[in-house]
Amino acid sequence: MAKDYYKILGIEKNASDEEIKKAYRRLAHKYHPDKKEGDAEKFKEINQAYQILSNKEKRAQYDQFGDSFNQDQGGFRSSGFGQGFPGFDFGGGQDGFEFNFGGSNFGDVFEDVFSAFTGTRGSSNKRRGRDIGVDLEITFEEMANGANKEIELFKKIKCDQCQGSGAKSKTDLKECETCKGVGEIKSQRRTILGTFVTKTTCKECQGKGKIPKEKCPKCKGEGLIKDKVKIKVTVPGGIKSGQTLSVDSAGEPGENGGPAGDLYVTIHVKDHPEFERRGDNIWHTVKIPFSTATLGDKIKIPTLKDPIKIKIPAGTSSGKIFRLRGEGIKKLRGYGRGDLMIKIQITAPKKLTRKQKSLIKELQEEGL
Ligand SMILES: [Zn+2]
Ligand SMILES: [Zn+2]
Repeated sequence: MAKDYYKILGIEKNASDEEIKKAYRRLAHKYHPDKKEGDAEKFKEINQAYQILSNKEKRAQYDQFGDSFNQDQGGFRSSGFGQGFPGFDFGGGQDGFEFNFGGSNFGDVFEDVFSAFTGTRGSSNKRRGRDIGVDLEITFEEMANGANKEIELFKKIKCDQCQGSGAKSKTDLKECETCKGVGEIKSQRRTILGTFVTKTTCKECQGKGKIPKEKCPKCKGEGLIKDKVKIKVTVPGGIKSGQTLSVDSAGEPGENGGPAGDLYVTIHVKDHPEFERRGDNIWHTVKIPFSTATLGDKIKIPTLKDPIKIKIPAGTSSGKIFRLRGEGIKKLRGYGRGDLMIKIQITAPKKLTRKQKSLIKELQEEGL
């Protein structure tokens, strides 16, 4: 379902930055999970809307494309047009980047937002898993037709030896002394939205309330291990370089029953030696000699599938464009495809044999 971020914030499409901020503050205040009318889902939605609309670039993208990205792309919520979040900490690595939620780049608001994501009220030791960002390079053809890709990445997954408990033996647990088994510690925080009593996860037991007498040897008590995983991603045809797909819950696992993070896949389209993209159309320039242009002939041209032959009529001039309908790029929005545009370029030979030269001279004398 497409989300109307303007509607979510209760503002007009032409709202000013100031109006967006005001609306956001009012609503975030109202629906903050620590408030009487608090609603974590709504709060998350409001924040999503704000993240997009408060960013000039993202707002423009959203206005242009909406998030109606996922027609006929079963399976994935692809609402993220370039929806990388601001201020993420790209801790680079060969196997993809990791977003760091709650990093120092985040303002108070966002820290607050994300701490609110960590679960329902009263159980803030539930922690949402981290989001992961990766880059995915695709071919021009995959971009044009859409593709099912498999991404391999290293990420934290639940330790299979202890089932995520972190304990060597399940029965071998003792109550955490720091939090008295509650798993969280209450503290007051001041944000621009006001003062909130927030519960922070107990660092001693990571919110579990219990500590293993002996730690799981495989994960060293963390409950998570890093491993290589394969994740399927449906790339919609017509996607552009730099656009980001999101795969729900394919990030790192949550803690203490919290939801998993999401995976953000930023697409990079490789250049094509023959084709150039212009909107939904593909452009290809074909070079033909003067004689072909003059007398007409069938010439071979590349398409997204196999090469085909098209007829060049006699008397074709340089710059002439032939349009092959529906042979272009799959439309990201709506149905159908763009066209394949074939541009004719007549080339003059640089070197001529003696015979060729005398023949051309004859043509010249004939006024050609
Ligand atoms: Zn383990
Ligand atoms: Zn504790």
